[in-house]
Amino acid sequence: MDETRSAGAPREAAGEARGGCALVALVGAGPGDPGLITVRGRELLCRADAVVYDRLVAPELVELAVGSCRVDVGKRQGSHPVPQHRINEILVEEARRVGAGGLVVRLKGGDPYLFGRGGEEASHLAQHGVSFEVVPGVTSAFAAPSYAGIPVTDRRAAASVHVVTGHRQQNGALDIDFGALVQAGGTLVFLMAVATLGEICAGLLAAGMPADTPAAVVEQGTTARQRTVRGALAGIARKSRQANVQSPAVLVVGAVAGLDPELAWYDRLPLRGKTILVTRPRDRAADLAEKLARLGAEVLCFPCVETYAAADEDLASAVRRIGSCGWLALTSPFGARCLARGVRAAGLDARALAGVRVAAIGPATAAALERELFVRADYVPEVYDSAHLGAGLARLAAGEKGSFPARVMLFRSSEGSSVLPRALEEAGVAYEEVEAYRSVTAPEPVPAELVEKLAAGTIDLVTFTSASTVKGFAQALTAAGADPAHALRKAVCLGLPTRAAAEAAGFMCTTASAATMPDLADACVRALADSKGEQ
Ligand code: SAH
Repeated sequence: MDETRSAGAPREAAGEARGGCALVALVGAGPGDPGLITVRGRELLCRADAVVYDRLVAPELVELAVGSCRVDVGKRQGSHPVPQHRINEILVEEARRVGAGGLVVRLKGGDPYLFGRGGEEASHLAQHGVSFEVVPGVTSAFAAPSYAGIPVTDRRAAASVHVVTGHRQQNGALDIDFGALVQAGGTLVFLMAVATLGEICAGLLAAGMPADTPAAVVEQGTTARQRTVRGALAGIARKSRQANVQSPAVLVVGAVAGLDPELAWYDRLPLRGKTILVTRPRDRAADLAEKLARLGAEVLCFPCVETYAAADEDLASAVRRIGSCGWLALTSPFGARCLARGVRAAGLDARALAGVRVAAIGPATAAALERELFVRADYVPEVYDSAHLGAGLARLAAGEKGSFPARVMLFRSSEGSSVLPRALEEAGVAYEEVEAYRSVTAPEPVPAELVEKLAAGTIDLVTFTSASTVKGFAQALTAAGADPAHALRKAVCLGLPTRAAAEAAGFMCTTASAATMPDLADACVRALADSKGEQ
């Protein structure tokens, strides 16, 4: 089970570790985009027993540490940060608690050793006899400029790059030798510089840097919320203030910041600046969410339906009856997973399906079947919906009378549509319904943050992947006292029944050209491109 512990947990008596400690890995989480963690970092996270993480770490990465104990030592608004000495202690405490053979991941934003105080943490671990490993990360100092279209060095513009802290020392002064930096002449990247932007720019100007030197401030780099303010050194601080730039942000100063507007690839992504709500069940939202994020969107996940597998013994008993059917029909990847579960619960393996033909409603279901049971689907309709699956199955099963028992097992949701069984009935094909899983609409209350965004009209689009997601969305919003179609009018739907449900609920709909997540993502691009220039 996941367990979230407060960083303020009582201290353990200080003292040397006496062996029996877990390894602590200081892992760089990258600059914000969860895709920018290293392979090694991800691998360690996935098998961590405990994760101690910071504020700037992408939540998706913390989620990877399934089953671990999570300790948040990040600064939270309005409360005090956990002091560094306490973080150091927590690392030693966790290493002892987890014990020998275990793994504690200390997940830090960007690179652990670049202004991350990772060095101090490693020294503390060493002093207490705790073994550690360091997994470098992609630093925001280079990644935020990259996503903003700024190469930090370039033969045309800069032969060196200097990464500088804009953080004040204890006495309030900046620890920056402006003269030396101007003299060195390369690209300058300032971190922790939002509060001191004006002083930094004034310092560079006073040390002789030309007022028209190109500069840029990149806020929340590599995330969907990335913003870039560009201008000359002399005006960049004022411009940033006007744009209300907040931390985290980097300041880049040097000719590279004005090199070539064409390099701003991230700003040209088709869903850049758009916010999209994904209503799929939590465990199946990742694929769509990732695709939309790669197209530049800010993605909010709010599951409007959850699916629950039937009891293992019921699934196992259905699997034992499969041999009496010539065909088995699967209508979702989740159905394929439930089938695999039933096979295992029955103490069998893929051979339970020997002699049975399997029809899958679409390629994702077929892929899940292959992944779960190493079985290839015998039939996938050309159009991925119940009507086409029903028509194809009716044709195939009816044509096989005599050679095969033409009975079909429908292994699907207890709320499955009547379209599929009707097609079989009309063709005179016998079938058996197995309620392999059930769906529950509106399983969670709407988070306050989402209600606010809906009220403010800052969500551009909602995606519905089934009629039940439409129903769940309406139910959840009604319970929260909001009008679903008033708050957000644009929807992208998967399949015609979903569209019909969304239209009935008052949404303006675009339909995916086929029932796959890439097609749904394309439809989002179309839906939002169409809206350009609309009121
Ligand atoms: N170790 C981190 C830096 C930690 S200091 C790294 O390698 O990236 C924190 C500072 O990093 C912030 O004040 C900001 O200047 C910068 N920073 C972190 N994430 C950022 C992001 N997504 N976009 C812009 N700057 C970021």
